[in-house]
Amino acid sequence: MVVIQLNDTHPTIAIPELMRILVDEELLGWDTAWDLCTRVFAYTNHTVLPEALETWPCSLIERVLPRHMQIIYEINHRFLHWLDKDARAHPDPDGRKARLSIIQEHPEKAVRMASLAIVGSFSVNGVAAMHTEIIKKKVFPDFHAIFPERFRNITNGVTPRRWLNQCNPGLAGLISEKIPGNWLCHLEELRNLIPHAEDPEFRARWHQVKRSNKHRLAEYVQRKIGIKCNLDAMFDVQVKRIHEYKRQLLNVLHVITLYNRIKVDPGGEFTPRVVLFGGKAAPAYAMAKLIIRLINGVADVVNADLDASGRLQIVFLPNYCVSQAERVIPATELSEQISTAGYEASGTGNMKFALNGALTIGTLDGANVEMLEEIGPDNMFIFGHTATEIVALRQNNYNPWHFCENDQELKQVLSMISRDAFSPKTPGLFAPITDALLHHGDYFCVLADYRAYVESQEKVSRLYSNQEEWTRRSILNTANMGKFSSDRSIAEYAQKIWGVMPSSSCQI
Ligand SMILES: *Cc1c(COP(=O)(O)O)cnc(C)c1O
Repeated sequence: MVVIQLNDTHPTIAIPELMRILVDEELLGWDTAWDLCTRVFAYTNHTVLPEALETWPCSLIERVLPRHMQIIYEINHRFLHWLDKDARAHPDPDGRKARLSIIQEHPEKAVRMASLAIVGSFSVNGVAAMHTEIIKKKVFPDFHAIFPERFRNITNGVTPRRWLNQCNPGLAGLISEKIPGNWLCHLEELRNLIPHAEDPEFRARWHQVKRSNKHRLAEYVQRKIGIKCNLDAMFDVQVKRIHEYKRQLLNVLHVITLYNRIKVDPGGEFTPRVVLFGGKAAPAYAMAKLIIRLINGVADVVNADLDASGRLQIVFLPNYCVSQAERVIPATELSEQISTAGYEASGTGNMKFALNGALTIGTLDGANVEMLEEIGPDNMFIFGHTATEIVALRQNNYNPWHFCENDQELKQVLSMISRDAFSPKTPGLFAPITDALLHHGDYFCVLADYRAYVESQEKVSRLYSNQEEWTRRSILNTANMGKFSSDRSIAEYAQKIWGVMPSSSCQI
């Protein structure tokens, strides 16, 4: 009658704790308790980054939770014994058993919490189709080989009550005029907007809603950081946690490229942009904090240059949080979802933006892949190496120098950063960034995707100069986002994992 959904690896200690309650307090036999346990727990993996594969030192658990440590050893002992029986038919020459053990021996004896979660659960799910495939084939291939039936996908979603109705009442009201009924509870009904994308009057009203959201955000930006945004410029936005795999750096390299083009031809035609960044860095993540300083350094130079005036403005909004996201997302025209392919498990920012009529520039990563299936390649800007190509690039000794040497614009951008064009008062400040890209192998393949990204951004700029067509595609983005309601995600958890029926239906 009970399912406990382990939301990430962090609460995995619940598995030995339930065993302790059942065996020590309720006095059940081990086998009965374990049978109950493995019919109660289900595990969701949220990331392929090392934090998902956290290990807890046995010495620490022995000190703080000694009984739990004993129970974990017992779980592992019985699991490995069960594997041995299996291995009589299939001998183990390649050390599969050591890889499957819940206890790691090196560099120190520690519990692999994700392995404990998989062994102790009846369900293991990823949060987007591509992420689930990566979990099965790359992250936990040995567990997938022995428990294939435990693995499944449930693609994330976002709640349209908060991420459309509450944050963008203008757009929600306009949609309600064309789609009668309870579409906020049946988000697939957004499809009924598709024919209205061809109606110039509807497009004009859609455009006007975006414009007034931009006005509201511009007032907020002026109040918070004193920059007056050009409302005729494209609002090009990347707001999310600062992380190297999310590649805010790639966006910065593009911004500097645009700036250099303006400087070369100050009288030329440019699609004006306000490039807005927001996001927090983890307290100990020095590189992420340096990326924030670089964004601010570039903003200081560009925003003070009269040649760039009205054409290129850079905004870094501090304190990114849900309430700020609710202001920023409805005003966004271009959504930046440019992670190194294979690293963003799903993303949900990507969904919030497209639901509010932003066009996406993005890589084939996480839920972007499924958004592309729904929205179609004509209405999204997809660029860059695929996850498979990233793996191949690294296997073939990826050489970032090669990309730099063969691209004059990229070479100039990197040399400006290393020659302190954006850190005049603190020479050498950004050396760790250029070193990571040029001397430490550019792990997230920023330079390898630079040219494809810049070319894709040129297509974005050309489309933006045709506002009728841009607005048409904006409407089609919203119209095709029905799949990404959290109602659908939650219904899938209920059906595929929890085995429960809804007790009431969504009504607002
Ligand atoms: C949605 C959201 C996120 C997740 O954004 P991603 O682009 O998917 O990383 C992070 N922070 C806040 C405040 C959000 O609202």
